[in-house]
This record gives sequence, structure tokens and C-alpha cells, in this order.
Amino acid sequence: MRRHQKKNIAIDIDGVICDWQGHLSKLVAERLVVTEPYLEKYDQIWHVKDKKTNKSIANFAFDDWKDELHRDAPVLGNAVQVINDLTSDFNIFYVTARLPDQETNKWLTKHGFPGVLHFMRDKTDAPCSAIVDDYIHNLRAYEKKYRIAVCFTQEWNKNERFRYRIDAIEQLPQALENAGLRP
Ligand SMILES: [Mg+2]
Repeated sequence: MRRHQKKNIAIDIDGVICDWQGHLSKLVAERLVVTEPYLEKYDQIWHVKDKKTNKSIANFAFDDWKDELHRDAPVLGNAVQVINDLTSDFNIFYVTARLPDQETNKWLTKHGFPGVLHFMRDKTDAPCSAIVDDYIHNLRAYEKKYRIAVCFTQEWNKNERFRYRIDAIEQLPQALENAGLRP
């Protein structure tokens, strides 16, 4: 029997397999004093300031707490098992717009995620047939190149129309099958 050629899929980290946003919210609630509603205004939170230090949430998220967030943010759902199961049909590429660091690779290894990590701003550079992402811009860029874009539902993308959408990582194998990518 001829073995089928495995296809490459790109999997975003934050908001798809890692609850970076949720962990950030937790740290903000525990450590900062902010009065503005937090997650409700996702696109505008970065300039919200901590009343004690007068530093912005962006300062904490991308500087002071960066390593801690990358180390301690929890896995979303059953992602480890789901992605391990997918390796029989796919080569897994994690694509992230995070700046290169040591913690991200350690986090993937610690939790048992198989595959290869790439730090990249433009995710369409990844030579993949499909991407799973929560960021509208990346998904549309994939679609423009006639590749499969699977939207992982989050607050910030829920009103956008995508042909393939999942509300939990457990729905990914079916979505890839619906997209004709599984043998
Ligand atoms: Mg993301």
C-alpha cells in the first residue's frame, strides 16, 4: 500500500492552543488596579494603565510579564491530544508572531506538543496547506492564497464569516476533513 504524503498545517499558538489572553486577564486582575472593563474592549486594552505604577497593560504583557506568560499560560482544551492525533496525517508547524524566545519552545515541549516552531510575522510564509488561527488578518491572507483558513472562535473574530470555523480544538480534525485535507 502506498503511504499518503502528509500535508503541512500551520497552527497559531496564542488563542488556539494556549490561553495567553486568559492568563494575562488573570494576572491583571490579581496584580493591577484598572478601572476600565478589560476583555470587553480587546482592541483597546493595551493602553489601559495600572493605577499603582502608571504603566500600561502592554508594558506588562510584552515586557515585564512576557516570559512568565509564555511559561505559565495554560493549554486550551484538549489541544495536546488532538494535535498528537493529527500527526498521523499532518506535519505540524506552530506559527507565532511572538518575538523569538526560549520559553515558547520549552512550553511546547513541556506539554508534549509534537511539531516544529516558527516565529514569523507574516504567517503566509509558512509552506502550509492550511492555517488554524484566531487573528482575522492571518486567516484572510491565507484565503487570498487559496489555502484553507480555519478560524478558531474568539471574542474578537466571532462576527466574521469564515467557511471553516471551530469553537474548540476538538473540532479541528472534522474541520480539516470537511476542507478535504484528510486522506
Ligand atoms: Mg492567536
